[in-house]
Amino acid sequence: MSSVIRLLPDHVANQIAAGEVVQRPASVVKELLENAVDAGATAIKLVIKDAGKTLIQVIDNGKGMNEIDARMCFERHATSKISIAEDLFQLQTKGFRGEALASIAAIAHVELKSKEHTAELGTHVVIEGSKIISQEIAVVPSGTSFSVKNLFFNIPARRNFLKSDQVELRHVIDEFERVALAHPAIQFTCINNGSELFNVPASNIRQRIVNVFGTKTNEKLVPVQETTEIVEIHGFVAKPEFAKKSRGEQFFFVNDRFIKSGYLHHAVTAAFEGLLKDGTHPSYFLYLTLPPNSIDINIHPTKTEIKFDDEQALYAILRATIKHSLGQFNVAPVLDFQKDSDLDVPYSYEGTKSVEPTVEVDAFYNPFESMKASNTMAQQIGAGFNPFESVKPKPSGTSFSGTNSFQDKKQHRSGGWETLYEGISDAKELILTSANHQIDEEVITGSLFDEETPQAANHQQTYQFQKKYIISPIKSGMIIIDQRKAHQRILYEHYVHALAVKQNASQQLLFPLSLYYTAYELELLRNIEPQLVQMGFLFEELTNEKIVILGIPVSITESEVSIVLEDLLNDLQDDVPSDHSVLNDRIAKSLALSLAIKTGTYLTEKEQEHIVNSLFGCTDPQTSPFGKTTFITMKVEDIDKKFM
Ligand code: ADP
Ligand code: MG
Repeated sequence: MSSVIRLLPDHVANQIAAGEVVQRPASVVKELLENAVDAGATAIKLVIKDAGKTLIQVIDNGKGMNEIDARMCFERHATSKISIAEDLFQLQTKGFRGEALASIAAIAHVELKSKEHTAELGTHVVIEGSKIISQEIAVVPSGTSFSVKNLFFNIPARRNFLKSDQVELRHVIDEFERVALAHPAIQFTCINNGSELFNVPASNIRQRIVNVFGTKTNEKLVPVQETTEIVEIHGFVAKPEFAKKSRGEQFFFVNDRFIKSGYLHHAVTAAFEGLLKDGTHPSYFLYLTLPPNSIDINIHPTKTEIKFDDEQALYAILRATIKHSLGQFNVAPVLDFQKDSDLDVPYSYEGTKSVEPTVEVDAFYNPFESMKASNTMAQQIGAGFNPFESVKPKPSGTSFSGTNSFQDKKQHRSGGWETLYEGISDAKELILTSANHQIDEEVITGSLFDEETPQAANHQQTYQFQKKYIISPIKSGMIIIDQRKAHQRILYEHYVHALAVKQNASQQLLFPLSLYYTAYELELLRNIEPQLVQMGFLFEELTNEKIVILGIPVSITESEVSIVLEDLLNDLQDDVPSDHSVLNDRIAKSLALSLAIKTGTYLTEKEQEHIVNSLFGCTDPQTSPFGKTTFITMKVEDIDKKFM
C-alpha cells in the first residue's frame, strides 16, 4: 500500500491554527496590542470599525521591523521572542508562540507598515489568506501599523458565528482594558467607528484604573501592597460597599499579563468574607510579580490561565494581604451590613401629618359583629401570616395581633363612628410601636424566622402560589421564594460541598446501567471522572463507546442519571476548565440546573418547608448560582402602607 500521510500545506495549517488563536475580533485586538507592547511602544492606538468585523488597526511607536522581519513575522512559529525551550521559563514578553500573525494573515486581509527608528525608509506588506500580495519600500512613520480587514473573509461559517456588534465590541473593550491596565506606563487610545472610546495617558496604576473606569472609581480604591519571597503583590481592591451585583471589575495580572484564576479569585473573596452584602462581588485590580520560572503560562493558546508552582502559598499570602489592607484602611469597622439601612427610618409615615379620614357612617352598621360571627378572613390570614407574631405582648396592653385587638376594643367600648376612628388611630400608634420593637428585636436575635412563637408550630408556615412561588411569613413581613431558583441554590451549594469533601456516599444500583456516548463525549467524561467519582458515581468501565455505572450519588435517582450526564456534557463541551475550583463550580452549576424542581411543580407542605429551611441554610441564599434573585421580602410596613 502506498503511504497516505502528507504534510499539510502552510496555508491550511495556518488556518487550522487560526481556529485556536482567533475566535473573534477581540482575539486579534489582543494579539496586536500585545505585539505592540512587546515592541517597546510608549503609545499605542487601536482603531476599529464595526466592532472589529470590518477593520482592526493597531498603530504603535515601538521598535519596528526591517524588510525581512516584516515578511518573516507572518510565518508560522516565527518569533523573535524565544529561541530555545528554556526561554519559556524566563519569559518577559507577552508573545512567544510566533503563531498569532500567521494565523491572522490566514483568515483576513492584512496590511503591515513598519519602520525601524534608525532606518530612513520603511516597508509596506500586503498579505491576504496567507498569500503575500505585495511588499514595497515606503515612507512611513517609525514603529508599526497593522490593519486587519474582513476577518474570516474565507471562512464564512466563522464569520456568521460572530455575535452582534454590541457583543463583539464588549469583547474588544475587555481585551483593550486588560492590556491597558497591565501597562499603565504606555499611552493607549481606542477609536470605534470614528469615535474615541478611550484615551488614557501614561500614568501610574491608580490613575490608569481611574482613567479606564471613570473618576468615581478613585474613592473606591484601597491600596494593597505586600512583598514576600515568592510573590510581590500590589494594586487595589474596591471598598466592600462598592461591591457589584455582577462580577465585573476583577483583574489579576501576573508579570504584567492578565490572567484568570478561580483559585486566586477565591482567595480574594475569602478576604472579603463578612464584609459583602449577599449576592455582591468585590472589585479588584491586583498585580502579582513572580519569578518567571515559578509560573507556567504555556498551558492555553489564548494564555489567560497559568500554572503556579506554589498555588497554596500564593492563596494564603493574597488573602492575608487583602484582609490586612481592608483592616488597615478602616474599611471593616465602619461597615454594618447586619443592619438594613431602610430600617433607620422606621416608618415613613412618621412625621407626616395624618389626614383625618372622612367616614360616612351608617350608625347602625357594626362591622365587628360580622367579623366575629364568621371567623373572618383576617383572622385566617392572621393565623399564618401574622405580621406581628414576633412582637411579644407588652404589659401595657399594647399587644396588637392582627384583628384581635380591634375585637378586644370593641368589647370594651360602645359602637358609633368615633369608636371606629379611635380604633384606627390607635392602630396606627400600635403599628409604630410594634415596628420599633421589631427593629430592636431583629438586631438582637438576628434570626429570620420566629420559631419560638408557639402558634407558629401548629399552623401551616408556607404556602405555594401558582406552582411557582413559596410564600412564608417572617418576623418583619413575608418572603416570596422562587421555588426553582431557590432549589438551584440549594443543590449548587450541596454539590460544591460534595466536590470539596473527600468521599461521598454512593447508592449501589441493582442492575449496572450502560450509557452510550460519542468518543468525544467519553473523552470529556474521562476528564471529569475524578469529580464524578467523588460525588458518588461508581464506574465499572469507561471504554471508547460506553460507560457502565454501578453506583450513583444518593442525591440522584437512577432515571435522572442520563439527563444529568447529558447536561453536564453539554455544559462542558466547549471547554473543560483546567482550574479545579472553576471546574467544580461548573459541575455544581450544571447539576443544580438539571436537578432543580421545575416551575409548575406542585410541592407538598413538607417539600415547601424543606426548600425554605434548606435555602436559609445556604451561605448565599439571596441569589441562584446564576445570579438570579431567589426570594424577595415584603415588609409589613410596606403592606400596611397599601392600606393607608
Ligand atoms: P509572537 O508574538 O508570539 O512572537 P507573533 O506572530 O505575534 O508571535 O509575532 C511574530 C513576530 O513579529 C514577533 O516575534 C515580533 O518579532 C514581530 N512583531 C510583531 N508585531 C510587531 C510590532 N508591532 N512591532 C515590532 N515587531 C513585531
Ligand atoms: Mg504576538
